[in-house]
Amino acid sequence: MLLGAHVSIAGGLENSCVHAVQTGSNAIQIFTKNQVRWDFKDLQEDAAANFKNCINKLKITPISHISYLINLGSADENVERKSYNLFIEEIKRCHILGINQLVFHPGSNKNLTEDEAVKKISFNLKKIIEETNALYGDDVSLTIETTAGQGSTIGYKLEHIRDMISIINSDRMKVCIDTCHIFAAGYDIRGEDGYNNFMETFDRLIGLNRLSAFHLNDSMKDLSSKIDRHAGIGKGFIGTDTFKFIINDGRFGNTPMVVETPGNDSEHKQDIDIIKNLRIL
Ligand SMILES: [Zn+2]
Ligand SMILES: [Zn+2]
Repeated sequence: MLLGAHVSIAGGLENSCVHAVQTGSNAIQIFTKNQVRWDFKDLQEDAAANFKNCINKLKITPISHISYLINLGSADENVERKSYNLFIEEIKRCHILGINQLVFHPGSNKNLTEDEAVKKISFNLKKIIEETNALYGDDVSLTIETTAGQGSTIGYKLEHIRDMISIINSDRMKVCIDTCHIFAAGYDIRGEDGYNNFMETFDRLIGLNRLSAFHLNDSMKDLSSKIDRHAGIGKGFIGTDTFKFIINDGRFGNTPMVVETPGNDSEHKQDIDIIKNLRIL
């Protein structure tokens, strides 16, 4: 299994390897730049080389999460343009760092219907894929994360994601399931039937071949709350059973899974250990 944590790059990208060791991760998620800023410094060659070295040496599977500010659906043209440009920069950074997927939230637009927002976002993604195919090739997948449905965000229904993928029509489009988000969005993944039903629905609407990452988080809020609050594994409304079904599902043995739970390395290690102990050998 490929299991680990979202880890910090404070002090340099290669520090993510230190956190990987401390948390017992063989898969990690990182931001490749400050996630709450539009501006960025160009990646330095030596920093990128150091990162790739330690990742290779430790046999870690890295994935990246995009900056929080990005919203390709924004009603503000300036924000939409900045989002488009930063999205391309984030893909470039993944390409340089040898990271093969970039996880992002679809976005929102308070003035549009959900259908219109899906179309607007998909149109931008289609252009981003065409532009980056030409610049960097197709080695970085764009991985849509399921969302909790806070505010006017898109992506809390699997149908939104199905429609985006159908409009964009590229093999580079993948999907990340965040357990906290789907539960908050109203998908009851508790119990064996709940888990199997959800995976069947996902397969029917989107296809399990698109499923390329998991965020394993428990939820501080109850089913259908539409509120995105992560809890430690077993400390929320989902409970450990669902994580047992996921970690023992042979279809996902090569799918990176990361916790984005509250706390530091030692708390993340505890969450990861809980999941590892759910493995039936
Ligand atoms: Zn997530
Ligand atoms: Zn979240």
